[in-house]
Amino acid sequence: MFTLPDLPYAYDALKPHIDALTMEIHHTKHHQAYIDKLNTALEKYPDWQQKSIEDILQNLSSVPEEIRTAVRNNGGGYANHNLFWTIMSPDGGGEPAGELAQAINTTFSAFTELKQQLSAAAAGQFGSGWGWLAVDGDDQLKILATPNQDSTLSQGFKPILGVDVWEHAYYLKYQNKRPDYIEAWWNVVNWRKVESLYLQALRA
Ligand code: MN
Repeated sequence: MFTLPDLPYAYDALKPHIDALTMEIHHTKHHQAYIDKLNTALEKYPDWQQKSIEDILQNLSSVPEEIRTAVRNNGGGYANHNLFWTIMSPDGGGEPAGELAQAINTTFSAFTELKQQLSAAAAGQFGSGWGWLAVDGDDQLKILATPNQDSTLSQGFKPILGVDVWEHAYYLKYQNKRPDYIEAWWNVVNWRKVESLYLQALRA
């Protein structure tokens, strides 16, 4: 059975960029609901319960058809939020360093260009979804957006940074101003964690 991970900081730790009530509802209600529905979907499939969520999402087309949509939505929701909490920090913001910074400069020419492109992808995602920085099969960085709770893993890209642009992630504080939320969100990005995920993706 999949379970809700603890946040690595308090609900109010990301203020003023993300408010405490949004964080608490997002974690205890939304993330928990994806987990509950994922567990329900997998009830009749013990073989699939044994696998990691990353494994499942990378092999979504092999998931029994009867539960594939439920796993896509709720397994995606589970994995996406697991990542989301860890790539934020009250000590976040600033710019990436080390090998990740080098790769960003090589691929996007500058960090400001990555920031602009990822913000645009996330702001432009119609309806609910996510903006991502991911690593492709050739170890190259790639920006993409996915609708709903679709995981980049199902498309062959390992996510290393994601911004949740569902209204539940920002509506209480930002209402309809998604671009303002995205701009503020950069202030909480935990670049040390993103770099470690980048190096892990290269080794995988
Ligand atoms: Mn969310």
